[in-house]
This record gives sequence, C-alpha cells and structure tokens, in this order.
Amino acid sequence: MTLETTVERRSLPLEYPFGISRGTTTETEVVTVRIEDADGTTGLGAASPSPHYGETPATVEAVLPDLLAVVEDVGDPHQLERIERRMRETVRRNPAARTAVSIAVHDLAAKRLDVPLYRYWGLDPAETLETSYTIGLDDVETMREKTETALERGFGTLKVKLGTDRDLEIVRTIRSAAPDVDLFVDANEAWSPRDAVDKIDRLAEFDLEFVEQPVPAENPEGLKFVSERSALPIAADESCVTLADIPRIADRCDIANLKLMKCGGLREARRMISAARAHGLEVMCGCMTESNASIAAACHLAPLLDYADLDGSLLLAADPADGVPMPNGRIDLVGLDRPGTGAVLQS
Ligand SMILES: [Mg+2]
Repeated sequence: MTLETTVERRSLPLEYPFGISRGTTTETEVVTVRIEDADGTTGLGAASPSPHYGETPATVEAVLPDLLAVVEDVGDPHQLERIERRMRETVRRNPAARTAVSIAVHDLAAKRLDVPLYRYWGLDPAETLETSYTIGLDDVETMREKTETALERGFGTLKVKLGTDRDLEIVRTIRSAAPDVDLFVDANEAWSPRDAVDKIDRLAEFDLEFVEQPVPAENPEGLKFVSERSALPIAADESCVTLADIPRIADRCDIANLKLMKCGGLREARRMISAARAHGLEVMCGCMTESNASIAAACHLAPLLDYADLDGSLLLAADPADGVPMPNGRIDLVGLDRPGTGAVLQS
C-alpha cells in the first residue's frame, strides 16, 4: 500500500503564560504528521516535544523522515505492533516524534474501519472521566483569578502547580476560591525529601487528592522516603517516563502518571497502564501543552484510567485542531461523532 506523509511545524500561543517550578512558557511548538492512504483516508498525529526529556521541534523534524520511512516500509497501517517496534529499533530516543507517528497510524487504522479509536480497542466509552485543568504558577492573585475563570468554565478538578516559597499561601487561596473542586498539586521535582514531607503535612488540611512529583526524579530513594511518610498519596511523573520505570516506581508512589510524549506511542502507553495495574498502582494520563491533534488520542485511554490530566489543548489560546468534546472538562467519548481519534485540523 502506498502511503503519503506530510509534516508541519506550528507555533501555538498559550492562553496564559504557563508557569511551573522549572520556568514559564508562553507558547508551544508542535509538529503535526499526516499519513494518507491510497483511498485518501488521512491519519493525523502530533508531537509536542519537551526539552526536559531532550526533545525539540528540530529533533522531531530530524528523525521523522526515518520514522515515516518505517511506516511506508511496513506498508500496512493496521500493523501497529510492528510499526511501533520498528520505530523504537530505528530511533531509540525521541519519544514525542515516535508518538506523533503512532497516533497518526492509529487514527488512520481506525478511520479505515470507520470506528472511533476506543471502539477499535474494545473499550467502553461510558467509562470516562473528567480532565483536570491546570492552574500554572503566577502571583497568588492571578492564580486566584485563573481559578475563578476555571470554575466559570465548569471544571470540577483542578491541578495547581507548586514549587515556590509561597506554596501554602497558593493552596490556601485556591482552596478558598474553589471549596468544592477535586484538587491536587504538582511540585515538578522542586522539593527536597524532608521539605516535601513537612509541606505535605501542612497541605493535607486543604483536602487534596494527591501530590505529583514532589522530589527530583534523579533521587528515587527520596521519592520512596516521601512516599513512606506522606500524609497524601504520591503520583510519579518525571520519575515515570517509559515502561521500564513502572517496576522501579512501584514501591515508591501510589499513582503512575504516564504521558504519550514521554513513552513513545499508544501501544506503549497501554502496556504501561497494564504494568502499573499489575504493580498495584493507580494510573493517570497526563500531557504536555499539546494540540488536540495529539490530545484526542490520549482521550481514548480514558476508560483505562483513574485520573486524566488532558488539558493540553484547553491551555492554548486557540487550537487549530478539534478533538474529543470535553463539556465542563468531561471527556465525552460517547459524544464523539467521528472515527479515529476524532482530531480534525480546522486551520
Ligand atoms: Mg507533572
């Protein structure tokens, strides 16, 4: 089968400057991939590369020709296992680039059968959940205003970025602005293990669901130290990158936070979910600041998750792609009326 491929880099401004403990960004660059079969059916995917994991738009563009050559060589977009395996053999790192292609071939394969991706996977679309919406770091007053706007938009689960010398004040302010939401926090590796235990003791009074990545990923014993003493459940994000990390974090946290852009593909993500379950972990799927060209694919994992943090598109000023509907933050797979991932480029 002949497959046509196209690649395009896009710069997407964020609605608000997005602050985390490591820095603030105002736009995100994504690289979209389209794979078209001989009948004109097109699969769409996108990479949202993260410098934290060693990728940039330029590295994605550099390896995509080799990855797309794998797809063309395999020739059958339904050979998803073989395509992902051969991509991994061809380009060992560059998970966001591999994920973009993985999403595009999954989208194409499901579209060729005229079914949504969840149905291709045999999942129940009613078993969905609500995405959290992230309040990035800013001055406390701005964070309070963002919280009020999020409530007006109907979000019932908020994630708050921490890792400052005013973490307690931030959480107190947001909890008083949003007394009824499910709330969790993400320190993005900013705390030392001892500080983390102390902070979490004080944060626990604000009725938080859990704390994400309190300590640096380079300190696995620190994560274990915190987890054994923490007043709240601990989620691993930066410590949970690929499938091989799941057994390593299994006795060091409660929740595995996987992301497509870290793990390198949709089949790999499903393996991580299974492995995490086998190790007794709960599972969250997170994201980078991403377009619906990739977020839509992650939404189809919702029936397999305990937590969804799939607000990447919601954080953009405008997304060139439509995806799975999210009324009030609820990932509405039942309401999706298109085959594949549901991602459609509008501009
Ligand atoms: Mg995180």
